[in-house]
Amino acid sequence: MVDVVSPIDAQVLARVAPTAPADVDAAVRAARAAQPAWARRTGSERARVLHAIADLIEARVEDLAETETRNTGKILSDTRREVRRAAGSFRYYAGWAEQVRGETIPVGPEYHTYTVPEPHGVVAGVIPWNVPFFFAAKKIAPALAFGNACLLKPAEETPLTALRLGELLAEAGIPQGLVQVLPGGRETGAALVSHPGVDLIVFTGHHDTGKAIARAAAANLTPIALELGGKSPQVVFPDADLDRAVDAVVLGVFASCGQMCIAGSRLVLHESIYDEVLDRVAARVRTLQVGDPFDERTDLGPQITAAQRDKTVAFIAETRNAGRLVAQAALPDDERLRDGFYVPPTVFDRLDEGARVLREEVFGPVLAVSSFRDDAEALRLADDTQFGLAAGVWTADIARAHRFAGQVRAGTVWINTYRVLSDLVPFGGVGLSGYGRENGTEAARLYLRPKSVWTSLAGGIPQGYGMGGAGAAG
Ligand code: NAD
Repeated sequence: MVDVVSPIDAQVLARVAPTAPADVDAAVRAARAAQPAWARRTGSERARVLHAIADLIEARVEDLAETETRNTGKILSDTRREVRRAAGSFRYYAGWAEQVRGETIPVGPEYHTYTVPEPHGVVAGVIPWNVPFFFAAKKIAPALAFGNACLLKPAEETPLTALRLGELLAEAGIPQGLVQVLPGGRETGAALVSHPGVDLIVFTGHHDTGKAIARAAAANLTPIALELGGKSPQVVFPDADLDRAVDAVVLGVFASCGQMCIAGSRLVLHESIYDEVLDRVAARVRTLQVGDPFDERTDLGPQITAAQRDKTVAFIAETRNAGRLVAQAALPDDERLRDGFYVPPTVFDRLDEGARVLREEVFGPVLAVSSFRDDAEALRLADDTQFGLAAGVWTADIARAHRFAGQVRAGTVWINTYRVLSDLVPFGGVGLSGYGRENGTEAARLYLRPKSVWTSLAGGIPQGYGMGGAGAAG
């Protein structure tokens, strides 16, 4: 049994039995047995069930959000929003369930050729601890909409709302075995992603885990999508709306206590506005309230685990020797929170070029600031990372903004905004931030694969002993 601990005060919330490898095998078999009948249902039948799931979630927003806040330490207004957005994902993909279609491809008068999009079969979704309920929905909803089964492995630290979602799915009429939530840690995840009965792996988490999963997937040639971490820059030009930019910089890195893959953890400022913007960011940071995530006045809750807190604290200690500590918020002085995993939001600048905080993902509330002289240097600094998940650019010059967006190495670029995401818009990274895209039409590409069907209208096959051809290349 594994203790599930609240990061708010280190209290044990529950004890959860990890799924043993033999049980993973049984889960895969049950999912394989249930999937064909689900895929044979019409799109509107599948959509109806997805809407029923969304109804059940929406009726329990408060309950789910409170559990999520207790388990993750994220502030309650955020977890409420995430639960509502999870319901929204089920509705969004319910719409897709009725829109699946192939294409006819007119290769020539002798053939009738078309594609049929087919589900892969059993999807393994493996998710991290930072947005557990929302990520569970983001894996399960498209898998189901497109006719797949889904085995979801939540993070060991945060299984509670995902397990609750499993119950709601059963209540909404999801057939037995089709979706199963498999709590557990690395061993359970490894057993799942290396199972030959899994047809598609969709992973969100750390890049080292992504590499291990890619290796496991390679043994079975299982297709895979990896949503990994980031070291995303926000670049501010002198002509930007600085009020908005300062707001976005603070929210962009310190939301969820820095535990977001898209955290804007590097601030790249033009030298002419450097002091002004840094002063304003520092002033905001000093007033941030770190504390109880159930308290409406709180800006940042704790980190997820003692280990994650210790990692961030070590990063801060190390960076004190590699640069200047510009600003830091206070820790909570509430006795009830004494054992919780709190970390002060911290800003550094004047960093050595080799400082780890400029290159490695902290996954904590730490902002690293540097300055640039011209557009070329801004781009060089923005790209000075092996990650490539997201970037923000702040400027009133449309041409400059789009030039930057076109050149920067990132899966998502925000111009004069940050951290806005939608089910409709593709999301994913480059480099160490992973490969594959989720959301929108990309979800249809990920969760379906086209089968090509050729019918000869003339009869017979192309003559000769070489490869037959038709259409443009024929
Ligand atoms: P993690 O990689 O340690 O764990 C993620 C999941 O993988 C967990 O469920 C874990 O049990 C499982 N796992 C661990 N080893 C495994 C293995 N060998 N085989 C199969 N599964 C295994 O990540 P974390 O610490 O929980 O989350 C933080 C990381 O997630 C950060 O790097 C963050 O940037 C990243 N993240 C990325 C995105 C994105 O969409 N790009 C979103 C959120 C978080």
